[in-house]
Amino acid sequence: MSEFDAIFVGAGHNSLACAAHLALKGWKTGIFERNAAIGGAVQTREFTLPGFRHDFGAMNLSLFAGSAFHRKYANELNRKGLEFAPVADCFASAFPDGRWFGVSSDLEKTAARMAAFSAADAATWRRLVAAFPAEAEHLFRLLGSPMTARALAGTAWNLWRKKGVSGALDTGRLLLSSPRAWLEENFESPYVRATLATWGMHLDFAPDIAGGAVFPYLESMANQSFGMVLGKGGADTIIRALSGMVTSAGGTIVTGADVAEITITAGKATGVRLASGETHTATKAVIAGVAPSALTGKLLPNGSGDAGFDSAMRKFRHAPGTMMIHLALDDLPDWRAGAELRQFAYVHLSPSLDAMSRTYQQAMAGMLPDEPVLVVGQPTAIDPTRAPAGKHVLWVQVRMLPAEILGDAAGKIAPAHWDKVKDNYAERVLDIIESYAAGLRNKILGRAVFSPIDLERENPNLVGGDQVCGSHHLAQNFLFRPARGFAGWNTPVAHLHLTGAATWPGAGTGAASGYMLAQQLGGR
Ligand SMILES: Cc1cc2nc3c(=O)[nH]c(=O)nc-3n(C[C@H](O)[C@H](O)[C@H](O)COP(=O)(O)OP(=O)(O)OC[C@H]3O[C@@H](n4cnc5c(N)ncnc54)[C@H](O)[C@@H]3O)c2cc1C
Repeated sequence: MSEFDAIFVGAGHNSLACAAHLALKGWKTGIFERNAAIGGAVQTREFTLPGFRHDFGAMNLSLFAGSAFHRKYANELNRKGLEFAPVADCFASAFPDGRWFGVSSDLEKTAARMAAFSAADAATWRRLVAAFPAEAEHLFRLLGSPMTARALAGTAWNLWRKKGVSGALDTGRLLLSSPRAWLEENFESPYVRATLATWGMHLDFAPDIAGGAVFPYLESMANQSFGMVLGKGGADTIIRALSGMVTSAGGTIVTGADVAEITITAGKATGVRLASGETHTATKAVIAGVAPSALTGKLLPNGSGDAGFDSAMRKFRHAPGTMMIHLALDDLPDWRAGAELRQFAYVHLSPSLDAMSRTYQQAMAGMLPDEPVLVVGQPTAIDPTRAPAGKHVLWVQVRMLPAEILGDAAGKIAPAHWDKVKDNYAERVLDIIESYAAGLRNKILGRAVFSPIDLERENPNLVGGDQVCGSHHLAQNFLFRPARGFAGWNTPVAHLHLTGAATWPGAGTGAASGYMLAQQLGGR
């Protein structure tokens, strides 16, 4: 048995960032991770063949690069080996008729491509990009602040002071809009609309869901203004750097340590019991980087003592699932729409707003979508170190999928457990990519397929393959993430805190929930 100031359940990047900050403040920190490897959704492994390094989950590290944690600790992270691979050609969409549109950090390139679809859209794009710094100040402040009355009032005051009442209301309206509403108001080309709308599908914002507009807006404007960032050699560069910070500051990281229970004494969290039976105590905090349902379903067998909180944790809503297909390739896909697509970090295959809405609806109804949204990541186009010379990896994210299969929208695959269905469904995905890039199958040297259920097996936070650990719809975001009254990483149990994607400000590699909690506990 060891005694710590703070014990962390799970070694996701939020827990690591939180532990690093606290350890540097002199706290004795212990991180217990059930898997053999740390990093959770941010890992890079040779899933297919030796020398081919695949990002298990997150590939785009722009949120980490732009985070408050990185701003504060860039030197320490760099000393621990953090290296980014900057991306100039960020994201593009290929369309069934052979056309394509893409956003590169060179404004003239993006605007010229957009003008080929609509001169009016290109003019709008330039106007939005010029206005972005002033808008981003408020949005990033909101997304980077705790959900306290004081912080919200400060953000609102600053917004009102800088933009006046009408400007502030415009920002509020953007936050409430659906992707379709914002896109149709601003752009006339269906190609441009579809390209941008796909960013909503990285979360669970199908085009018609309120609160989703801000994701296409922020991603497209940020990619245009700053480019994108991948990890040099793999996304796990952030995990190695964070764990290096933790251990250099005296923290302990234990792998293969499944936390079975959080121990509570007199209403206060006092430590953990591992599945092995080992126990460890924490004098100041137990910080759980887990899905809310795991708290009440596993870690607190007798509940938190607050029936309302326990019920909210049980009812926490997850987003539809994801399948990941990792390919080792002889060469990048030959995109029919144009060879320039080979240099983009992401090629989206999601032809229209209506197709995306249909896909989302099919997944929500338990159906295998006939035309899932595909995010085809080409990391080796940017960072060739991830594969042997001249070879490539492809990172294919398949959105959106049901956790439990009730039917097939294409009427071809009989409903069954994902273990039986995943290879068949992967063939559907490859057929779709082939229709945009003929000959892909001939280039495949190795493949690894993770169904939504495989993702959950790898990381129990990805419930049903939900890559964002909880729907980000308005009723479960901001003050309501993960539940009303608990957006401050608090729980009804003294000394017990939640961190990670399920908590404010949600999913992604920005380490924001971990860092904000760390500052709350240990000071700035
Ligand atoms: C397929 C996929 C693609 C993604 N792509 C991107 C992207 O490109 N860019 C981006 O910004 N974000 C992306 N995301 C989202 C982002 O990766 C996650 O939101 C983020 O990494 C979650 O971090 P976290 O700190 O919440 O912990 P997680 O990464 O969820 O890690 C939690 C850890 O806790 C461990 N754990 C859970 N329960 C226990 C227990 N009882 N005992 C011990 N250990 C336990 C788990 O094993 C895991 O290691 C993606 C996610 C996925 C899955």
